[in-house]
Amino acid sequence: MTEQGKNLAQEVLFQGIPASAGVAHGRVFKFSHGELKIPKYSVSDDAVDDELQRFEESLLVTREQIGEIRNEVAENLGSEEARIFDAHILVLEDQAFIDDIVSEVRTSGDNVELCLHRVSVRYLEIFSNLEDEYLKDRATDIQDVTRRMLRNLLGLTGSGTAFFEEARILVSDELTPSDAAALDADKVLGIATDFGGRTSHAVIMARANGIPAVVGLGSFSDELEDGDELLLDGYDGTAIANPSEATLYRFGKIKKRREEFAESLEALPHRPAVTPDGKTVQVYANVESVEEIEKAIQAGAEGVGLFRSEAVFLKKNAFPCEKEQFEEYRKIVEAMGSRPITIRTLDIGGDKVLPTAAKTREENPFMGLRAIRYCLRNEEIFRSQLKAILRASNFGKVRLLYPMITGLGELLRANEILADCKAELDKEDAQYDHDLEVGVMIETPSAASICELFAEHCSFFSIGTNDLVQYMLAVDRINNDVAYLYEPCHPAVLRAMRRIFDVGKEKGIPVGVCGEIAADPNFLPVLLGMGVDELSVAPPLIPELKYVFNQITFKESATLVEEILNCWRSQEILQCLKDFSVARLSGQD
Ligand code: PEP
Ligand code: MG
Repeated sequence: MTEQGKNLAQEVLFQGIPASAGVAHGRVFKFSHGELKIPKYSVSDDAVDDELQRFEESLLVTREQIGEIRNEVAENLGSEEARIFDAHILVLEDQAFIDDIVSEVRTSGDNVELCLHRVSVRYLEIFSNLEDEYLKDRATDIQDVTRRMLRNLLGLTGSGTAFFEEARILVSDELTPSDAAALDADKVLGIATDFGGRTSHAVIMARANGIPAVVGLGSFSDELEDGDELLLDGYDGTAIANPSEATLYRFGKIKKRREEFAESLEALPHRPAVTPDGKTVQVYANVESVEEIEKAIQAGAEGVGLFRSEAVFLKKNAFPCEKEQFEEYRKIVEAMGSRPITIRTLDIGGDKVLPTAAKTREENPFMGLRAIRYCLRNEEIFRSQLKAILRASNFGKVRLLYPMITGLGELLRANEILADCKAELDKEDAQYDHDLEVGVMIETPSAASICELFAEHCSFFSIGTNDLVQYMLAVDRINNDVAYLYEPCHPAVLRAMRRIFDVGKEKGIPVGVCGEIAADPNFLPVLLGMGVDELSVAPPLIPELKYVFNQITFKESATLVEEILNCWRSQEILQCLKDFSVARLSGQD
């Protein structure tokens, strides 16, 4: 390593929460999604015209981008909602604002980014001090437009990682799902954040890409600078700045051992997840893109148990129209061939925020207008998605899944809208799968308590343990201050899960699990023993999951379940599960 950062004199160890397995070693890239770093440099008289040319170009590009978003919002949400973008375009056309920036560039001799920033700060001060509410709102418009122009001037289309020459470890206070969606996975060696929990969506994406991640590191990001050397251990949740040779050697060995184990699993021919006493479980993948589907098939996925469709929206950072969505869904459906693919309807809200949808700031976003609630409130968006999915169902074996259902009313209303969409497609003689199966995510305590009521109106259940644990235990899944309370082994969670499986069996409804515990080798015997039918996990974790199933019997797992259901404390249960794993599984650390 040649490039230097803060040059910490000695090794410093930070302890966080292990979020995505693996060891990474490299230079730090400090990622900032908040304030943009505005460069400051002088521009010679000869270069002023070039600087102004850059400004002209950024005006054009920004106008084009905003116009595009405006049209999409108008199409999907209506012209009223699109008005905010009209206001943004007005800022770009405001001659006084433009003249002020031009004159700042000419008189100050500074670069255009700095001049734009200075002028916008002046305008912001004036507007925010006004009494008039309408004019006060214009301050936000100026802020949004300036940020967009600055990003364009700086060439920061996504997260900025695409411009790295070498892959780096991304260090940040936190990472939002749209930040994560914009990352170039090949340029990111690892992710280390101050905040966040194991099941935050950015971490789930890291896991899907096999990128080691550690979260909940406290004020760690303040301690580091761009270019510092960092070793990240995603198994144990440690980050070591300026690691010594001895430390690197030790971690090199761990990495090698784990990689050899993973390779030995991958080298095995694809085999089903069948236990030695003959119980078979379908192994599906959680995916967010067509590229991940290819990885999933290579890893031995028998289907997709969860396609997080919001990824299509987050990547675009806007609402794609029905046609665009159809094209995306069709690609992934065709990539799966005859294997089943479960498309979950839009789950935005919580930590997944679309800028164009964030009209009101929610105090408790995870309990707010999220997922099916958002879709039932914004029916046009929901309808366009359902029609796009229905059309795509003509090209493979699609299943539809509703997220965050809390009551029967929501399920019935969603099904009514689905029936309307089918009727509309019938009118235009469009082709779709008339036997499309509908499933319900069981991820809220209320859904778990009344899932028998859903049974007549859906064909399968999928337990979303990431949310079920957060909502049952009242523990925000991205808040590391309460991460110690986020316990999938909590007796309340286990009892709820047992109930869902029992209802599924009684009603003849297959029950799957697509939350992160489906990939936890310690937890797999519990799911097996409770009678799980399908498991859905990030593609890189599929070989290990199948390996575990080939080592443990259904009978002993069912006995283990009875044993832990008689325990009262999470720690005691976790210990039981670890002891069971150690006794049955070899090749694990
Ligand atoms: C879950 O809640 O377990 C789940 C799979 O959904 P998400 O993580 O997308 O909320
Ligand atoms: Mg969920």
